[in-house]
Amino acid sequence: MPKKSRRSRNTKPIEQIKIAKERIAILISEAEKVNEEKLSKRHVELAKRIGMRYNVRLPKAAKRKFCKYCNTRLITGWRTKKGMRYNVCKSCGRTIRFPFRKRL
Ligand SMILES: [Zn+2]
Repeated sequence: MPKKSRRSRNTKPIEQIKIAKERIAILISEAEKVNEEKLSKRHVELAKRIGMRYNVRLPKAAKRKFCKYCNTRLITGWRTKKGMRYNVCKSCGRTIRFPFRKRL
């Protein structure tokens, strides 16, 4: 019987995690391309859900492109203050912050 490769206890098989990552990447790139806000929101929602199920985080770039509260694409640019980047979501009005690094 072939031995199943597992990262550790209570995690999904590596192959499944790999597929999950691929699907997330596809969904995120679709969400960026699509013009319709509703559809883009839905893509991000699905990507997040897959990430939750398979214990996979969204790529860092994706976290900066979409509002983490309502999954809407962020249109406005980032502002920096005291080593943090700020962005305000157009649809829910909440502020999203990220620590600012000099070079990305
Ligand atoms: Zn929002």
